[in-house]
Amino acid sequence: MTTEPIPEQTYLPPALRPRLAKLGIEHLRDFLLHFPLRYEDQTQVRPIAELVAGESVVVEGVVEHSETQFRPRRQFVALLRATDDDGGNNFAPRLTLRYFNFYPNIVQALKPGAHVRVFGEVRDGRYGLEMVHPVFKKEAAEAAGQGRLTPVYPATAGVPQAALRTLAGKARKVREWQADLLPPAVTVAQRLPTWQVALQVLHEPPPDASVAALESRSHPAWRRVKFDELLAQQLALRDAKALRAGETAPPIVGTGLISTLLRQRLPFRLTAPQERALAEAMADLARPAPMTRLLQGDVGSGKTIVAALAALAAVEAGYQVAFMAPTELLAEQHFNKLSHWLADLPVRITWLTGSLPAAELKAAQSACTRGETHIAIGTHALFQKKVSFARLGLVVVDEQHRFGVEQRLALRSRGQRDSERALAPHTLMMSATPIPRSLAMSYYADLDVSIIDELPGGRQPITTRLVNEVRRAEVTRRIREAVQQGAQAYWVCPLIDESERLAAQDIELQNATALHAELVAAMPGTRIALLHGRMKADEKAAIMADFAANRTQVLVATTVIEVGVDVPNASWMVIEHAERFGLAQLHQLRGRVGRGSVASTCILLFADKLSDTAKQRLKVIYETTDGFTIAREDLRIRGPGELLGPRQSGLPSLRYANVEEDLDLVEAARNAATQLESDPTFNKAAFLDRWIKSRVEFARA
Ligand code: ADP
Ligand code: MG
Repeated sequence: MTTEPIPEQTYLPPALRPRLAKLGIEHLRDFLLHFPLRYEDQTQVRPIAELVAGESVVVEGVVEHSETQFRPRRQFVALLRATDDDGGNNFAPRLTLRYFNFYPNIVQALKPGAHVRVFGEVRDGRYGLEMVHPVFKKEAAEAAGQGRLTPVYPATAGVPQAALRTLAGKARKVREWQADLLPPAVTVAQRLPTWQVALQVLHEPPPDASVAALESRSHPAWRRVKFDELLAQQLALRDAKALRAGETAPPIVGTGLISTLLRQRLPFRLTAPQERALAEAMADLARPAPMTRLLQGDVGSGKTIVAALAALAAVEAGYQVAFMAPTELLAEQHFNKLSHWLADLPVRITWLTGSLPAAELKAAQSACTRGETHIAIGTHALFQKKVSFARLGLVVVDEQHRFGVEQRLALRSRGQRDSERALAPHTLMMSATPIPRSLAMSYYADLDVSIIDELPGGRQPITTRLVNEVRRAEVTRRIREAVQQGAQAYWVCPLIDESERLAAQDIELQNATALHAELVAAMPGTRIALLHGRMKADEKAAIMADFAANRTQVLVATTVIEVGVDVPNASWMVIEHAERFGLAQLHQLRGRVGRGSVASTCILLFADKLSDTAKQRLKVIYETTDGFTIAREDLRIRGPGELLGPRQSGLPSLRYANVEEDLDLVEAARNAATQLESDPTFNKAAFLDRWIKSRVEFARA
């Protein structure tokens, strides 16, 4: 045997490489984890009379007629009739076999009168059922190996199943790749098959394997694959966490001098979960390793004050704080809120976003660099190259799920590079997207999480109404009455279709302007403002300020108000075309009301012809206001990939395991990860390499 490393690349036919890349296959090795979607039984021969379009089957018949045709393009066509049909019955069904690439051997094999057995997918052709490029059964049997069940792999245009099977077969021959990297103790405890057996069963199922169990992915072989995938995820997350723990951060212990003054002037007392979350963050800050804490609390649970108090601890200890929000609007609100809370206290706050005039931007940047500002509040502009901090101690990221991993990573490296002693800053992230336990255990396993699971007292529940848009006039009348009695309302413009995205901002503007004009006409005497994404930051801020001060009564807005906006007197919310919004978005939007002491109402206008998922979503949002229930339903309807997105989770999405359905495996993988960390026989690098190394997304993250 040669000791040369196997040149993996060379095994892939160069012509297929770009197409295989679309399937996520870059090396021959990747075929091992490219599992079949389903299996075909090629031992069963189907009579021509019983064929149905869409199925892949073996058919037997007699060639009645065959010829080369030239229109619309050169092709060889053969007409097959049932073997027991003597040709006298013109009405008996026939099957057309069609070849666009053909060689003399095919013409020879399909001569009139020949008995043939072919395998292929049945389609609806112009002249009845047909098969394009069917394979002769002899070849089919070879391609399928000896088994009864032939795997059907996820494919892409231009890569035939036969090629996929051949390549998978080649990959299966490299012994090293099939090695079981898990100690038997782990797999036996989970009653999982060995890796070799799992691969064998999935790629070349034995004749007696249960097709149902294989295709529903509940077969033990599948459980082994999912377990390994989840284990790799757990191990990778632990590595990320360990890496951070190895970094040094300034231990921060606040004196309490300023925060005590802030607490005294607050018109409320912190709830118990707020106090708990704050204490957890404070304990992290005091350690010499960077905090990576996610502060999770439903919309309106009061995360900002917790972050503000943590920020003050850093300021008291002589460090700077960067407070980052995903939109200018939200950053501005934080700026206003903190400025208000900290007025007359010895804390300098700087506002820093990309839209500042050049001179002001420069001044703000140098205030950070020279250590003159204590808390810099802004958008991701805070972490552009030109901004550096003299003594950055804490980074607060609001609505963290809105930021991509890249931004989060940029932000971390920023702190390290800028600080003289190469210290990493502590990070406190906030999110109103409640993470179901299953997701928290998998995707967020590397974060410490504090949960605020109680809304501040005195809040009134929100009533949600589903109203068909044909009853819009009634809604308008109702809002007008409410406004006349002193209430304020948000009126949210319809979301723009993904397909229209190119011109999204224009369409958004048109929609918003049209809606505004319509409402102005329908509600004379009401002060109605318009807020949309195309406006300049200071325009937006002025409009928000007017609304916050009750100088305008109805705010027609695009989803720019989705996150974080806080106007307690606003107690009505109307959402146009609610069926177009996702659950998380509806929940966020609805969370803009119900913040004051009066009861709030959210009206969801919907158009007819709802899709099934839209119906499901509206039902969920109608039935509950609990963020966790909504997130769980969202997960059920959409799957974790979309709920978190690979970019947002910072990890490649899972291909095979489903954190909700396979929760038992998530837990098992988590325990196994702990156990394996201290197992000298376990080759973690090799194991991670199998699952993660070749993954494109991970390389980037
Ligand atoms: P979110 O968690 O959605 O970011 P905010 O921090 O914006 O929520 O808080 C929502 C509102 O509740 C704000 O007006 C805030 O001042 C107020 N608030 C925060 N904590 C409390 C509390 N313990 N009691 C009463 N009101 C509170
Ligand atoms: Mg908030």
